Amino acid sequence: MLLQSLKKTDYTQNLLFILSEKGKPDSKAPAHIQRFAKVFQASKKEFDFLKTEEQQVFFIKENKDREKNRVAGHTLRTQLDKDAKELTIIGENEETAFTVAEGLLLSNYQFLKYFKDAAEKKYGLQSVYIDSDKKKIKQYNQLIEAVYWTRDMVNEPVSYLTATQLSQEIEKLFEGLDVEIDVFEKSKIEALKMGGLLAVNKGSVEPPTFTIIEYKPKKAVNKKPLVLVGKGVVYDTGGLSLKPTPGSMDLMKSDMAGAAMMAGTVYAAAKNELNVHLVALIPATDNRPGMDAYTPGDIITMFDGTTVEVLNTDAEGRMILADALSYSQKYDPELVINSATLTGAAVVAIGTRATCMMGNADQKVLDKLTASGLRVHERVVQLPFWDEYLEDMKSSVADLKNIGGRYAGMITAGKFLEHFVKAPFVHLDIAGPSFLEATENYKGKGGTGVGVRLLYDFLEHKSKSNA
Ligand SMILES: [Zn+2]
Repeated sequence: MLLQSLKKTDYTQNLLFILSEKGKPDSKAPAHIQRFAKVFQASKKEFDFLKTEEQQVFFIKENKDREKNRVAGHTLRTQLDKDAKELTIIGENEETAFTVAEGLLLSNYQFLKYFKDAAEKKYGLQSVYIDSDKKKIKQYNQLIEAVYWTRDMVNEPVSYLTATQLSQEIEKLFEGLDVEIDVFEKSKIEALKMGGLLAVNKGSVEPPTFTIIEYKPKKAVNKKPLVLVGKGVVYDTGGLSLKPTPGSMDLMKSDMAGAAMMAGTVYAAAKNELNVHLVALIPATDNRPGMDAYTPGDIITMFDGTTVEVLNTDAEGRMILADALSYSQKYDPELVINSATLTGAAVVAIGTRATCMMGNADQKVLDKLTASGLRVHERVVQLPFWDEYLEDMKSSVADLKNIGGRYAGMITAGKFLEHFVKAPFVHLDIAGPSFLEATENYKGKGGTGVGVRLLYDFLEHKSKSNA
């Protein structure tokens, strides 16, 4: 656990001072540090540091903008010696100190598993001391741990992370926690007639899985559970509607980011003992153009009996999610939230800096998600969800088809999913922000773990209020 409770400041170690405009630098600090702090405060600089043989001392100006603090935490990571083992954060405002630490910790993430010289590349940071109570520190650490796990899963290639492996990783993650995990294997999925998941899996040599994660705390504020559904396409070639490689198929190990986000969120909620009853449903498979692959023109009977004409095998996410969404009915949920790297249209519309959100749930729920997104800077943009969009998904030979027209692909996909859900529904299309091709501050490069901090914030507020 990186973040630790500060007992006594050791001024000979690495330090970070967060200075307010009028606040005085720590009077117990050595004279040369105080002098540097005064000059820094009077300057226009936002960030500066002094370095000796023995220590690094960083200075950041106090900022009300939480995101600026997180980015400052990232700048700190870029300047801190790779081998530095510890850092003490000294600031007047606890909230600012935490958000700077959050940026630092998220920036400290590395995915080194496949490097021969991983040990040399690894950051040495082991302890970041902060003056706050142990419980809050523990909660922050556990939330960050959930984001790390989510990033790891997204960064793992399919040569390791098959559908079966994803289920096993989830089981491993929740070991020792009061959370129930149930993994359906292929025979059970066949018995249940999950036609969408089975159709997508037909071209693969790896079997599909369907993982259920249930966290039911004794003092849950909700009588009916929240069901979280996440797309677990562990690799997407597009199937017979094969994707091109550059900037497309080469990124598709990330097509299970929705699944990882939902498992990561339940993990953070369970570890931090939020009082919200949650069920996560994770349908998982790879999508390949194998000998028996499902084809454009196929008509598939889904878990709930709806028939779907497949016109593009690369629109596979909605096929596997539809079965999970209808399965959610078993829990009579208060709300169903779906997350998926679902459409290129979402990326075209708003890029990598936000998630497309839509749904038929009460506007208050959507507003709360929007507010959570702003607080944690995992922003969501609400799109229209009018019924006319479903017209694009009607087939002439089946109940629905799996692709719409040329426009608003993220909304028509959302309407397709909505067809399978009885409860109030929210859909998050995370195709843009879940995986970055270039480093973007503390979000890093590769899997970002987007959505975990968003949903955690949403659930934490629900846990406290149940409004
Ligand atoms: Zn696809």
